[in-house]
Amino acid sequence: MNNEDKFDAIIVGAGPAGSACAYTLAKEGKSVLIIERGDTPGSKNVTGGRLYTYALEMLDKGLYEGAALERKVTHEQIMMLSGDRAINIDFHNPSYNETQKAPMSYTVLRAAFDEWLASKAEERGAMLVCGIKVDELIEQNNKIVGVIAGEDEMYADIVIAADGVNSFMAQKAGLSGDIAAEAVGVGVKEVIKLPARIIEQRFNLKEDEGAARMLLGCTEGIHGGGFLYTNQDSISLGAVFMPEEVGHKKQSVHEIFQELKMHPSIYQLIEGGETIEYSAHLVPETGFRGISKKLYREGFLIVGDAAGFVINTGYSIRGIDLAIVSGIAAARAVISASNGAETGPLYLKELHDMRLLPTMKAVDGFSDILETPWIYDKVPNLINDVFDSLFTVDGEVPISIKKSVMKLIKENGLSLWQLIKFGIKGVRSL
Ligand SMILES: Cc1cc2nc3c(=O)[nH]c(=O)nc-3n(C[C@H](O)[C@H](O)[C@H](O)COP(=O)(O)OP(=O)(O)OC[C@H]3O[C@@H](n4cnc5c(N)ncnc54)[C@H](O)[C@@H]3O)c2cc1C
Repeated sequence: MNNEDKFDAIIVGAGPAGSACAYTLAKEGKSVLIIERGDTPGSKNVTGGRLYTYALEMLDKGLYEGAALERKVTHEQIMMLSGDRAINIDFHNPSYNETQKAPMSYTVLRAAFDEWLASKAEERGAMLVCGIKVDELIEQNNKIVGVIAGEDEMYADIVIAADGVNSFMAQKAGLSGDIAAEAVGVGVKEVIKLPARIIEQRFNLKEDEGAARMLLGCTEGIHGGGFLYTNQDSISLGAVFMPEEVGHKKQSVHEIFQELKMHPSIYQLIEGGETIEYSAHLVPETGFRGISKKLYREGFLIVGDAAGFVINTGYSIRGIDLAIVSGIAAARAVISASNGAETGPLYLKELHDMRLLPTMKAVDGFSDILETPWIYDKVPNLINDVFDSLFTVDGEVPISIKKSVMKLIKENGLSLWQLIKFGIKGVRSL
């Protein structure tokens, strides 16, 4: 091998983490090779999905303006389903688009978004090869010095694992083991095509506005939830389930998801649409406490989902923005390390300075709340029951609201004390 065959950095995976890293390195004149196993970037990737724009702004000011984005999210919604009933909370804030320099978040379709972001990295000078799977890491004197893909060996000063959840590269580097079933959720998703005008009518949206909706009570009591995002002319509808709990149920994930599609409050939104994409993917679920114990070794860094950088608060899921931020952090560390410092500790410092690790730590308490099993069925049931009783007028003398709520709490197999304890736990963990 001569020096011309050697890159400053090899990045495994052209998801948002890999492309953001490549973009930042190439912009600083580094020679970068991104290797992607999919035929195109994003072809194998799944997301809900919504992207928080600040991450693109960190990559380059104004970059979001030409990005492959769908609709500005101005409607934040939470829907609780029970039987054929549903309550939808719709928080509409049109000034998300006016008071901030960039709208706060957009819905995205990953095939288009990932391809666009990778093309931006290429424009900056990164080399992208698709349709090639990296099989092995090359190690010399306890340092990672390159990768093997099929018959080919490629060398670099640093290899960056941006290969997503259950990172094979991190396992090969000895930084993580096999993924535990309780550490991930399995997500299923359909993209359903509908004319833009119909989507706008059904969701009460202006032309470029979009809605992001989280769904509770649609997983047959399994730890998990659903999501729905409005794209330009399609709807992304999906659900995430904890795989170890699915095994104990009579219904498969596919059957539960079909029931969700048929729920009267969901069906009326997708009716007449054509499913143009069906996908399934794992998503890290353990938040701050699930981050890889070691994020680097000599010649090697882990970014994005491979490192466990995902936040799930129940009312929003963030992984794409954290993938982008961690990709930039890794690139900045590599650039600073060119001056003689050690890359790994610099990477950790960047993750702190760019607020990724402090943010994940700050919302870590949500994991405790989401572990409470009855919030996935009894709570949405109870809330729907309470609304049912509030709006029922049948000529009978109504019982007091207080008595009615106490009765419904009991009927749902809960106690006031349980709810108070949950409230205290919730307040403490936030
Ligand atoms: C159902 C679901 C819903 C979600 N919803 C949202 C949401 O709404 N908003 C949000 O911000 N996040 C969401 N997430 C999380 C988000 O999708 C991830 O956090 C994000 O995609 C991580 O980006 P990444 O670049 O780290 O990894 P990925 O996007 O997984 O990219 C990894 C890339 O590496 C490639 N690769 C893997 N192994 C190899 C190999 N050996 N050789 C070459 N290439 C390889 C893959 O093909 C892929 O392109 C969701 C996830 C799921 C599953």
